[in-house]
Amino acid sequence: MEQKGLLLINTGEGKGKTTAALGTALRAWGNGQKVLILQFIKGGWKYGELNSIEALHKINGNIEIRPMGDGFVFHNRKEDEEVYQKKKLLAEKAWNMVVQEVMSDAWDLVILDEINYAIQFEMINVEKVVQLVTERPSRLNMILTGRYARPELIELADTVTEMTLIKHAFQKGIHARKGIEF
Ligand code: ATP
Ligand code: MG
Repeated sequence: MEQKGLLLINTGEGKGKTTAALGTALRAWGNGQKVLILQFIKGGWKYGELNSIEALHKINGNIEIRPMGDGFVFHNRKEDEEVYQKKKLLAEKAWNMVVQEVMSDAWDLVILDEINYAIQFEMINVEKVVQLVTERPSRLNMILTGRYARPELIELADTVTEMTLIKHAFQKGIHARKGIEF
């Protein structure tokens, strides 16, 4: 019998939310599963992982990483109302693509990277995300990442990990390091 898919959430203030999701992607791909990684914050993907996933994609096409484009660039109502409305429309279009991919039943694992930010900054209504994970194909595993995971989603999740910030090199002025941060 087909196993029921799991919902995982990586949240918290410490480093490792996105990289843990990428690690799981690697693990799933290695098991012959099909993996789609969607990014909700522009520029979130670093060249290191883009190059790696591109290389894996060339091997068998079972893994894909896709930025959501301008649809989910951080913004708020304080900016120009016209610009805000335009971006909101882009966000809706981008969300429709997410729904289409998730509901397609073409994937074994779908990662929505930084979606928690997109919810926090009101780019997406949390109700829509709740609906999507609830109605997803039953075998589909999903991972949501980003700080500020909402309680509604935590409630629905099977595995929730909170990365705790104990210290970060940045605090003593060490800037993003190749191979570690990008
Ligand atoms: P990573 O992509 O390394 O797994 P993350 O997804 O947990 O990190 P994000 O909140 O998405 O963290 O932040 C992305 C970038 O910010 C990463 O380069 C990460 O190293 C850095 N970062 C994460 N946490 C902190 C922190 N507490 N202070 C400073 N920089 C941080
Ligand atoms: Mg991240």
